[in-house]
Amino acid sequence: MKIFPLSEGAFTIDATKEFVPFDVNKDDLQQRPTGSLLVEIQPFLVQINSENVLIDTGLGYKGKSGKLQIFENLKKIGIEPSGISKVLVSHLHIDHAGGIFTEDANGKIILNFPEAEYFIHKKELDFAISKGSPSYAADSFEQFRNNPKIKILVEDEGIIEPGIAYKIVGGHTPYHLAFWFREGNEIAFFGGDVAPQLSQMKRNFIAKYDFDGRKSMELRSDWWKNAENEKWKMMFYHDIKNAVYQP
Ligand SMILES: [Zn+2]
Repeated sequence: MKIFPLSEGAFTIDATKEFVPFDVNKDDLQQRPTGSLLVEIQPFLVQINSENVLIDTGLGYKGKSGKLQIFENLKKIGIEPSGISKVLVSHLHIDHAGGIFTEDANGKIILNFPEAEYFIHKKELDFAISKGSPSYAADSFEQFRNNPKIKILVEDEGIIEPGIAYKIVGGHTPYHLAFWFREGNEIAFFGGDVAPQLSQMKRNFIAKYDFDGRKSMELRSDWWKNAENEKWKMMFYHDIKNAVYQP
């Protein structure tokens, strides 16, 4: 199993829920609205079972070249968008799901990874559509839910294919998914926004941005113990320094 972080860069987010690019070498956090959070946005490519599996899709951020940053990142490791066979989506907040599709000039949704199957949980999708903006791009979700490439998960936990398991864990959103990858004696883990940064694993706290902050805190504590015991490689979506960490 191989894991590649595919960072779109650092961004700040404030109460408007808008993500603004942040250059750590030039920009000053004090100049952003009070309470702004600085986060990395970092999807992952996992190579497992001779397949390229993408975990979450980023914002769909386009750099100066006008091309999707995630495409540029994949190109650097020799992978075309058509080489992605599965896309796993932990939850539908825009910084995780914005890169699923691009909207063309006529408002038509085009899936960014044309050969991939996209795995999204039905309960998360229904919740996102009921909630709408600004955290969710709800109109777009309605448009793609019937696309045959979108595989709607209905069980609360299960297997996507041998070696890849998912489970509704909640916490950050009511139906947030976590993913486990097993190949040989290696285990990799993605806890999405329940476990977004290494520093959060080592201290007990309740995050205001979570749907159920206490649940997230308890999950982090359980996962960290398991990670230590079973040598999980943990993938941190919002961690600038520690993309993949094995305790
Ligand atoms: Zn989120």
